[in-house]
Amino acid sequence: MTGPERFATMVTCIDGRIQRPLDEWVRQRLGVEYLDTITEPGPESMLATTDERQLGVLLAKVAVSRRAHGSATLVIAGHADCAGNPVSADEHRDQLRRSLLRLTGRLPGTRILAVHAARCGERCWAPELVAETPGGPAVTHD
Ligand SMILES: [Zn+2]
Repeated sequence: MTGPERFATMVTCIDGRIQRPLDEWVRQRLGVEYLDTITEPGPESMLATTDERQLGVLLAKVAVSRRAHGSATLVIAGHADCAGNPVSADEHRDQLRRSLLRLTGRLPGTRILAVHAARCGERCWAPELVAETPGGPAVTHD
């Protein structure tokens, strides 16, 4: 007997170098089998600063994952050496925190994690948790 398949959702950069390290880190940390993945160049910059219309386009993609696969966890991921968002590591983390705050009110019942993948050497990426919705698994407010 196997349980239901477990999914999480990730909004991450297009950068092919970070996909596998992030996928492995998230699946291990969250104990999920599959990670539905939406890509944007430098997504933490986009999420923190884009207008409401563009944000709505992205959240519609997140909603497909939630509806089809029952995902109730969203990971927002940024990374060092990002061509789409060439700012300092501190600014990446700041944008990740702002992205998380912006999405928290729009995704009630969704646990959100903000993750930054730093370099740890040649072909080595070390994801680290930057912020998470308070209390771990989110609770609905009504
Ligand atoms: Zn990037």
